[in-house]
This record gives sequence, C-alpha cells and structure tokens, in this order.
Amino acid sequence: MKKLLLHTCCAPCSSAVIEWLMANGVRPTLFFYNPNIFPQKEYEIRKKEIFRYAKSLDLEIIDADYDHELWLADIRGLENEPERGARCLQCFKLRLQATAQYAHEAGFQQFATTLASSRWKDLIQIAEAGNESASKYPNMQFFEKNWRKDGLSERRNELLTENGFYNQEYCGCEFSVKKNSQD
Ligand code: SF4
Repeated sequence: MKKLLLHTCCAPCSSAVIEWLMANGVRPTLFFYNPNIFPQKEYEIRKKEIFRYAKSLDLEIIDADYDHELWLADIRGLENEPERGARCLQCFKLRLQATAQYAHEAGFQQFATTLASSRWKDLIQIAEAGNESASKYPNMQFFEKNWRKDGLSERRNELLTENGFYNQEYCGCEFSVKKNSQD
C-alpha cells in the first residue's frame, strides 16, 4: 500500500476519509495537530476519540504539540473574522504547514487533510493552504480530493453513528464557540 500522512482534525471527519483511502490502496499515518481547539478539555476529548479509532484500525497516529498560545499569536488581528474568512485560512496554513514539515522529515511524499470533509469549511482555502505548504518541500504533494462527494458525506454520518463518536458542536477555536452561542 502507498504511504500518506493524513492530518486529522477529529474522528467524525476522519472516518470516511480513512475508509476511502484504505479501499484505494493507501495506508494513512494519522497526524493530530490542532492547536486551534479551545478549551483544552475539548481538545483532549477530540484527541481521545481519534486515538481510539486509530487503535481500532491498527493505524499509527502521531500526537503533535498543543500550543494554543502559539495559535492565538498566529491569528492575531483576525479574531473577529467570520468563519470561512481570513482567520480560518491562517488556521489551515498553520496546521498544514506543520503537517508538510513532519511529512518531509519522516519521508512521506504526500499528505492530505480531513478538514476538507466538513461542509462548513471552504475547500478553496484548504487547497490553498495545502498546496502552499507542499510547495516548501521537494517532491511533496498535497493530495487533493473533494471528500464530500461520491457518497462520502453520507458515509461520514453512518460511521459517526456506528462508532458512537463524540460529535462536536463548533469548529474548534474560542471564536467559533462565541459565534455559535450568538446564533
Ligand atoms: S473557526 Fe475553525 S477553521 Fe476557523 S479559525 Fe476557528 S478553529 Fe480554525
């Protein structure tokens, strides 16, 4: 099977992506790097869920840093941006840059992200962040696919129920919590 480093944001968004990759001859190594998630308790819950799922599939998963202060510094000035705005693009860039760097150092030649499976996220922003990150390393490719098509959104929901995943109610950062509480 081919190798690929898969940036994973959470178990619900990852399950159908992993299933599709494995059915298509790719064995992903998971990379959990999400310093955007707030508060830390929420981060730990999401992390525990994806680690549980990786273990059930016998897949390797890398536990990267949780440095929320670094994330806040990186998006400074963009706190009041709406979702799908400039803050989200910067958030994707930070996470996918770290993924590309790890992929390079660990000998992978391609990486992907489960971020693109959420219908709340902007695919163009994710592609920009992924391709920009890949371009910084020789022979590195951002594996791009619309993970919402070909029945994958429906499969995501089936797997969520089948596995009893914790299903978060907001994107991740404190600014997305505020937005949802005002809706
Ligand atoms: S709303 Fe989601 S994608 Fe946007 S900055 Fe917050 S955590 Fe990142």
